[in-house]
Amino acid sequence: MDGYDEDNIFAKILRGEIPCDRVYEDEYVLAFNDIAPKAPVHILVIPKGPYVSIDDFGANASPEESKALFAAVSKIANEKGIAQAGFRSITNTGDNGGQEIAHFHMHIIGGAPVGPMVAE
Ligand code: 5GP
Repeated sequence: MDGYDEDNIFAKILRGEIPCDRVYEDEYVLAFNDIAPKAPVHILVIPKGPYVSIDDFGANASPEESKALFAAVSKIANEKGIAQAGFRSITNTGDNGGQEIAHFHMHIIGGAPVGPMVAE
């Protein structure tokens, strides 16, 4: 993917230019409800840093940013009560991955069986 676009929707949410339904926040991470939920629980977890994708994040995030993102996924899943029954955490990357917004985000999807991982 190309370089980071400061005008992507999640950058605007991080700057407070458009609202979000916040679920969790710390120094490195913001999480909020997806605007078009695909399951009873559908939360997006994003780093506050300007990373385009998991490819970019994996290569360039600091250990603190990386740890905070995964810790947030765990905290949120437990706080929402979906960890025990199970849930899906996915990140779409680039064109073939179906990524619509070019700011790295992890989907947490659960609260009910979420079906097959990939459409057949
Ligand atoms: P992607 O396809 O990039 O993996 O996922 C983007 C997700 O962002 C989609 O699930 C979509 O519903 C969600 N989304 C798009 N625009 C907004 C928005 O303005 N606010 C929130 N909360 N979610 C959004």
